[in-house]
Amino acid sequence: MRPALALIDLDALRHNYRLARQLHGGRAFAVVKANAYGHGAVVCARALAAEADGFAVACVSEALELRAAGVSAPILVLEGVFDREELIEAATQRLWPAVHHLAQVEMIEKTPLPQPLRAWIKVNSGMNRAGFLPQAVPAVWQRLMATGKLEPCGFMSHFARADEPEMPTTTVQIRVFDEATRDLPGERTLANSAAILAWPDAHRDWARPGIMLYGADPLPQGQQPLRPVMTLESRIVAVRDLAVGEPLGYGARFVAQRPTRVGLVAVGYADGYPRAAAEGTPVSVDGQLTSLIGRVSMDVLTVDLTALPQATLGSRVELWGREVPVNRVASAAGTISYELLCNVKRVGFVYQGR
Ligand SMILES: *Cc1c(COP(=O)(O)O)cnc(C)c1O
Repeated sequence: MRPALALIDLDALRHNYRLARQLHGGRAFAVVKANAYGHGAVVCARALAAEADGFAVACVSEALELRAAGVSAPILVLEGVFDREELIEAATQRLWPAVHHLAQVEMIEKTPLPQPLRAWIKVNSGMNRAGFLPQAVPAVWQRLMATGKLEPCGFMSHFARADEPEMPTTTVQIRVFDEATRDLPGERTLANSAAILAWPDAHRDWARPGIMLYGADPLPQGQQPLRPVMTLESRIVAVRDLAVGEPLGYGARFVAQRPTRVGLVAVGYADGYPRAAAEGTPVSVDGQLTSLIGRVSMDVLTVDLTALPQATLGSRVELWGREVPVNRVASAAGTISYELLCNVKRVGFVYQGR
């Protein structure tokens, strides 16, 4: 069997969820959109079922996958519904869709629903991506309530820069949200992972932790004891020695400046390891740190074994996990942990702590 594996530590997932919930207070939607950031939405939701107050996904189809797997907790649908069929499905399956656009309000007005729906009005408090302008919020709330089809609404907003603790943007967004919703009854949710960790003023009835559940701290100087959930690993499948001046791999990006012992590792960008990873990106071989050399290929990559003479065929290589923080690989590839995690595919998934 090809040795490329994603090991998923469900105890670490539960630990991180508890930490998020405790740091925030109140309740917490475990955000399991995008297949739980690449970790497997159904398995992760089941692992959290005994303690999660609710889940959040991007779209109705993601929510239905959880319902079909027996997940009965509330499910917040962050993008809301796209058409009337989804709206009816949302009411039938007791999903909690965000309502962020007038077209969705009109859909609710025009569509007979099988049972009362719980909607979350999304306020554009400054990110300017989705949501109603602050001054429009009371009228939207009144229109929705006037349909007689809804349970009491909730209110939500999302931060653009909560991972930048020194920026005033988040404080402004909180104030705008509070003013827009001041006289309106209903639960509130503002905080993503970064705001759970860095912005106590953003803590309301519900938190929406995503990336921190998977053990990647979104803050530049993350201090919290998060436990990595995914370990991406493979093995050395060939070893060769390069003489000075010999090139390695596509484009000869790496040329040996000294005699170099190279390990070929069975994992590549088709598995989700970023092709953009720079020369020198950390990898761990049998528990010892070394680095990526040469360009990442579709199915394989190459690592420097010159200083690891004991490393050989079959040596375990960790691409990210406990030994190599996914944040370090992300920054070496010019991206964020979120993108790396949710791109993992083709590898075998092994769940621990089920
Ligand atoms: C994805 C998402 C979250 C979770 O964000 P993290 O940074 O992963 O914690 C929360 N709220 C909304 C609206 C989202 O789209």
